[in-house]
Amino acid sequence: VAPDPQSPVSEFALIEWIRRQASGKPDSTVLGIGDDCAILGVAPGAELLVTTDMLMDGRHFRLETDGAEAVGYKAMGVNLSDIAAMAGIPRAAVIAVALPRSTGAAVAQGLHAGLRRMADRFEVDLVGGDTNAWDGPLVVSVTVLGETTSHGAIRRSGARAGDLILVTGPLGGSLIHGRHLRPEPRVHEALALSGQAHLHAMIDLSDGLSSDLGHILEESGGVGAVLDASAIPIHPDAVDQSRVDGLSPLDHALHDGEDFELCLVVSPQDARVLLDRPPESVKVFRIGEITAEPGLRLRSADGSLSTVEPRGFDHFRTPGA
Ligand code: ADP
Ligand code: MG
Repeated sequence: VAPDPQSPVSEFALIEWIRRQASGKPDSTVLGIGDDCAILGVAPGAELLVTTDMLMDGRHFRLETDGAEAVGYKAMGVNLSDIAAMAGIPRAAVIAVALPRSTGAAVAQGLHAGLRRMADRFEVDLVGGDTNAWDGPLVVSVTVLGETTSHGAIRRSGARAGDLILVTGPLGGSLIHGRHLRPEPRVHEALALSGQAHLHAMIDLSDGLSSDLGHILEESGGVGAVLDASAIPIHPDAVDQSRVDGLSPLDHALHDGEDFELCLVVSPQDARVLLDRPPESVKVFRIGEITAEPGLRLRSADGSLSTVEPRGFDHFRTPGA
């Protein structure tokens, strides 16, 4: 039986409940929940990918308004997005959670249901975790393990002058209608793209295009980029957001975070291939090019260039939640 949702959480009853939720284990899981470590198998020659992301009540979400299920769904999604950004196959996840002692088991169960709902969509096995309770807010940390394909991991560091910059979907305004709670990790898209073209560099857009593309430029030896203002796909949410705060939709597309689309850099030849014949159900938009001259610049319709400062999310600079 499931723990009483109203009663306080018992650690071991909760873990037992989580364990019983597990469906059939995939081949990559040799041993799941129940021992001191999980055991995973990886294909011969594959490299292991590891990523972790922590979400805190009051910073990344509000438990009171968002609900535990949505928090779990997002926490798993943002991690899967990082595996996608390397063009990897996500296999397994471990969850570390600090539960508020005052809330009942319902929060823990809701959280787990959300984690599972996202994990199941990508056949990711929940193989372990750590359960704590305290007199603080809900904190959940997800670690996802994945493996590379024969195309290898796509890093941030391979952009070269003359390459073109593509994104997989429209950007901006993820906060206004709660889309930031429902990330669509581009796992299948990344695998399809890396199978069809030689990707030089890739990143997932979590902090905002200006910041995240900036990471590619930095890691690629200080190259620069010019973005075409008219070519950047703008999400309808960015338009709604601009009506509220007066910033332009383009500003939101450039600087808002949590779109979780991919930003990839390829040769002009490969860009042609991907734009003319994108893999099935994958969208690609050409937004600009890599330049030898450092810095990020925006080209307006009249051809004039202006500098873009990274204004994406930074935990040490951005106040509030
Ligand atoms: P240990 O003390 O050896 O770390 P625990 O008692 O913390 O073991 O956990 C027992 C088992 O339950 C382990 O396999 C652990 O990975 C798993 N586990 C604990 N908490 C969670 C959780 N929140 N989600 C999934 N698995 C969990
Ligand atoms: Mg142990």
